[in-house]
Amino acid sequence: MACLHKKTNKEMLALLFCGLFLFLGWYFETKIDLLAIIFYIISFIIGGFAKLKEGLILLLKDKELNANILMFLSVIGAAAIGFWLEGGILIFIFALSGALESYTLNKSEKDLSSLIKLKPETASVLVGKDEKRVLVEEVKIGDLVIVRPFEKIPVDGVVVEGVSAVNQAMITGESLLVEKKAKDKVYAGTMNGQGSLIIKVTCLSNQSLFARIIKLVQEAKENVPKKQLKIRNFEKIYTKVILVLTFFLILLPYLFLGFSLSYALYRAMVFLVVATPCAIVASIMPAVLAAMSNGARKGVLFKSGVQLEALANAKIIAFDKTGTLTTGILEVTDFEIFEKKMSVEDFFKAVGSIESLSEHPIAKAIVRKAKALKLNLELPTQFKALAGMGVKAFYDGVEWQIGKPELILEKGEFDESLLKEESKTVVLVKRDGKVIGKIFLSDTVRKNAANVISKLRKLGLKVAMVTGDGSIPAEKIAEVAGIDYYFSCLLPEEKLEKIKKLKKEFGSIAMVGDGVNDTPAMVEADISIAMGRIGSDFVLETADVVLMNDDLEKLPYIISLGRRMNRIIKQNLVFAVFVIIFLIFVNFLQVISLPFGVIGHESSTILVILNSLRLLK
Ligand code: ADP
Ligand code: MG
Repeated sequence: MACLHKKTNKEMLALLFCGLFLFLGWYFETKIDLLAIIFYIISFIIGGFAKLKEGLILLLKDKELNANILMFLSVIGAAAIGFWLEGGILIFIFALSGALESYTLNKSEKDLSSLIKLKPETASVLVGKDEKRVLVEEVKIGDLVIVRPFEKIPVDGVVVEGVSAVNQAMITGESLLVEKKAKDKVYAGTMNGQGSLIIKVTCLSNQSLFARIIKLVQEAKENVPKKQLKIRNFEKIYTKVILVLTFFLILLPYLFLGFSLSYALYRAMVFLVVATPCAIVASIMPAVLAAMSNGARKGVLFKSGVQLEALANAKIIAFDKTGTLTTGILEVTDFEIFEKKMSVEDFFKAVGSIESLSEHPIAKAIVRKAKALKLNLELPTQFKALAGMGVKAFYDGVEWQIGKPELILEKGEFDESLLKEESKTVVLVKRDGKVIGKIFLSDTVRKNAANVISKLRKLGLKVAMVTGDGSIPAEKIAEVAGIDYYFSCLLPEEKLEKIKKLKKEFGSIAMVGDGVNDTPAMVEADISIAMGRIGSDFVLETADVVLMNDDLEKLPYIISLGRRMNRIIKQNLVFAVFVIIFLIFVNFLQVISLPFGVIGHESSTILVILNSLRLLK
């Protein structure tokens, strides 16, 4: 980051000196020839160094010519036929466009990193029987840290309790699950699986989400939009064609049209200058970076620019329910205990203890209820999350399951009174093979959900909802929020199937979610958006776009932003191509001089970049 900032400063300084020596060269041109040429050469070197280096690196990497190299050939050509000043202006403006590009890049990186600071990385440390959420920097060696299912392991340590499959892709680069049990080492940044772990910290944390996101943004720059890739391929072929044409433009008029060699060379140089595709090449990336930067300042993290393109093209947007359309802060409103001998306290002590190891909004509500009853919770053992279904664990020596009726009830066990559909979310509790209770929870729809959905509709999108919850709560929320299509009682894989179907029917699809149960569907969607606050680490890692403040209002905004970006890129390309064709045409009519060619060509590049910078606003 700091290094990029320095780069922009260095570029500005180079620009300044390039201009200064250019001026000196021009000043002495009519007075002392040799001195003028020396000044020009100095100005060429200072102004052209960065771009030439960039061009050469690309040349060595691709073994293909690129616009930068063409540019330098035209500068050398211009100087060779005595047009030093024009060559200098070419270099100067070329360096200016480079500095402008770095400025956008710098700005977008700064905005992105300031955004990341919004979500500090924390760890749940066990203090006696209680747990405390602290910043990872404050975790000490020897502390016991609880890692819930699908959370990122915040520090390096050794497992003391629990069994879970951990995804170590963060360190090994391979998405392989490694089974971890007591005494195994676990590493910060790796992703916990279904089990819950308690780990003893063995080493202090310096590795922050911040550092990782910078890496991510760095990668995002390499993850170039499809359009940019097409342009790069085009650039390779185009550059070769232009060089061959230039060669013939020197030769043919000289041989057949009676041009003098120097005049033929002059015309060919004008051609080379105006035909160089700088403006086309500069049409996309600055626009993408400016748009990403704009998003970052509004609390939206784009992991790469490709995603804005996808967002602009989305035809339908699918929402998860709990935690996405609703606040995800549920409340236990009611419960029934079927076991006569069991007291309310015993019941909630058990379910609260078991759910204390889950990250699910339902679990949090049950734990809150247990704590409200002033119960001392204990940790269960062999805890396992069953995504989209519920949880199971051992407590008091027997196995418990808490979750949706479909999970709890075996075939044939269907009891009308248990399954009677409620407008509230229902979970059943099973202890040692026997259903012993049921809990009702209610959730509130986010305040702005209906408003956001109507805005999305106005943007021409269809709106769907896919939820794991029962059909009556789903219907109620779909109605309040104004959803076109909704699907309930879905397992994670069924959510994926629904997304596939919607995609086939409507075209490009976006999916917004917060839970682990949403991730298969999110991967299937053309573009996935995660709720940054309520979302679990696993979802944040998987999603293409993160709404840092869980603000649904940002959805219509980013879709408009993506569309605006596409529009600006289109304008840029049309304009750039038009200018090139026009200048080539007037050069054939022999009515354009080299200085005008230089100015026409370079100002189109600068204009294109300035047009893109409008996206910062
Ligand atoms: P949504 O798709 O609406 O976000 P989920 O797929 O996360 O909902 O959950 C689906 C259902 O699975 C819930 O309605 C609940 O019945 C059950 N469930 C999931 N996790 C838990 C848990 N930790 N405790 C109890 N029930 C759970
Ligand atoms: Mg959810």
